[in-house]
Amino acid sequence: MSIAEHVTAVREQIAAACQRANRLPDAVTLIAVSKTHPAPLLLEAAASGIRHFGENRVEEAGKIHAVAQHYPALTWHMIGHVQSRKARDVIDQFSVIHSLDSLKLAERYSRLAVESGRTPHFLLQMNVSGEASKEGFEASQWQTDNTQCQALWQAVRQIIALPGLHIGGLMTIAPVVSDSEAARPVFAALRRLRDALAADFPASDWTSLSMGMTDDYPVAIEEGATLVRVGRAIFGARDAIDSIDRRVR
Ligand SMILES: *Cc1c(COP(=O)(O)O)cnc(C)c1O
Repeated sequence: MSIAEHVTAVREQIAAACQRANRLPDAVTLIAVSKTHPAPLLLEAAASGIRHFGENRVEEAGKIHAVAQHYPALTWHMIGHVQSRKARDVIDQFSVIHSLDSLKLAERYSRLAVESGRTPHFLLQMNVSGEASKEGFEASQWQTDNTQCQALWQAVRQIIALPGLHIGGLMTIAPVVSDSEAARPVFAALRRLRDALAADFPASDWTSLSMGMTDDYPVAIEEGATLVRVGRAIFGARDAIDSIDRRVR
């Protein structure tokens, strides 16, 4: 199948999941995760109507330039963990950053945003599954573990007070499971956490829920995802380089 056919198939799945959940299909934004793939494939996806691309390494951002020459109005999402020293490049190249996973990084982004006048949107990455290998704020026990809850709320309170940072919601990566239903509790947990933060910090924007990948995005949509990050279902399998990423998952 061509990329265009893949995109059509994914959009049909999104529409079907929205219908099951009584949601409007345009409540969900499809992000084509193009990491490891060369610019010509991104152009093909853009020609098929993709307007949002996700990359996980700032080193691959050279593609952005190549693709933007033909499609200047695309939105670029940083979905991978960012080291502090690369934050400046990330803020320059990406308009949505899904992987804000520490107060330290938030402080750095805040300084850079104020300096540069750039105003990307940030999502707070949450480790709701409790897997040790996951990046993100510890958020697997916030409903039962008072210490974890207080630490998390304190971090959020400090982050939303930083100048220049537009927080837009939460992101999570579900564990790899053979049956996508097994990921449902993780997605439901992210939504519950979002609802709790929205209740306690109503002055901030908590609209976005970035959750769901090739193996589980229909379930994530049923649980309220507003952004799904889909790679393989659009571009096909990635080669071994990808092991970097699978290992973290
Ligand atoms: C690679 C990646 C995806 C896409 O994964 P697929 O299984 O190819 O859909 C989504 N989110 C993150 C954070 C990723 O690193």
